[in-house]
Amino acid sequence: MSFKMHLLTSRTVAVILPVLLLLGMLYSYIWRHYRDGIFGQEVRPADGSSSRVDFTIVNHWFHLVASDYLEYQQPSIVQGRTDVVTVTPWLAPIVWEGTYNPELLDSIYRPQNISIAATVFAVGKYTKFLRDFLETAEQHFFVGFKVHVYVFTDRPKEVHQVKMASGRQLTVVPVPGSNRWQEISARRMELIQTLIEEKLQNHMDYIFCLDVDSKFHGRWGTESLGALVAVIHPGYYRDDRSKFPYERRPESTAYVAPRKGDFYYCGGAFGGLLQEVHRLANTCRTNFEADAKKGIEAAWQEESHLNRYMLINKPTKVLSPEYLWQDFKPRNPEVRIIRFSGVIKNYADIRPNV
Ligand code: UDP
Ligand code: MN
Repeated sequence: MSFKMHLLTSRTVAVILPVLLLLGMLYSYIWRHYRDGIFGQEVRPADGSSSRVDFTIVNHWFHLVASDYLEYQQPSIVQGRTDVVTVTPWLAPIVWEGTYNPELLDSIYRPQNISIAATVFAVGKYTKFLRDFLETAEQHFFVGFKVHVYVFTDRPKEVHQVKMASGRQLTVVPVPGSNRWQEISARRMELIQTLIEEKLQNHMDYIFCLDVDSKFHGRWGTESLGALVAVIHPGYYRDDRSKFPYERRPESTAYVAPRKGDFYYCGGAFGGLLQEVHRLANTCRTNFEADAKKGIEAAWQEESHLNRYMLINKPTKVLSPEYLWQDFKPRNPEVRIIRFSGVIKNYADIRPNV
């Protein structure tokens, strides 16, 4: 090798080595963030401390193992429901009756031994809805699975004793009363966040947060599982998004501009993996408090904040209005089954203020 060539090679090495080193550092940096983004969610509670939510639980969600012995109807990609849309533009399933096989789904999730927490608030006179809610939940909500219902109430004595199947249980969480329904409704996010941090983390897999003034009429089960789950509000799904009752004042953190919005989601039912619902509750609560400091209360309290959140953080599964109908509303033909529905109530009778 000539001296000139040798010089060239050592110069090339001198350039290539640092470049390789830099690429290596960049790779490990990107991989770390990619891995955290997928598997772990850094959560910073309001007190500034940092807690890492357990992420091993997502295994059953990534890996769906079916039984070799189960026989079921052949699925088709050319035949199916044509009267409804069953997937969002971001490719999340929209769950309607006739789009899934309940036995197949249950057979996938049962061996995983998943557990589902449900929160329900019954403050003031709303305790009168508890009995029907709890009894019908026993009949229809994740039957055959581990379910832990948390009832938040200021009247623990009025919580109806319901016979629950084995593997299912109920815990009463005492909370203060309030003389403003808006405050009761809004405080739910904070209490859900605290419950996840203090009681559920590492013990439960999924959580659903439900309105108490409602009853189950049909199956609500494993088909509803997803990382972040929202229910489409029965009142607006045929309307143009300009008519959705989003918060329209730009000063509010719940603001949604007139030409924005996917669906109008219910504040009365949402859920998903613990870490996702924790992030949702934390964000909505923080935004609610930021608004309150400016003297703003969003049009529909936490429902407005939830809708703003879901616009940016797209739900990975969307439940059709079958999953929260309203008893006063005649059933539309595309709704083949009503699974959960809000009862008719006299607001003047049950709310502490009008
Ligand atoms: N809530 C309550 N006590 C009240 C008002 C509200 O416990 O005085 C809780 C209850 O769980 C209820 C939820 O907040 O289901 C939302 O309020 P509501 O059902 O009245 O709202 P709507 O469904 O009519 O919009
Ligand atoms: Mn309600």
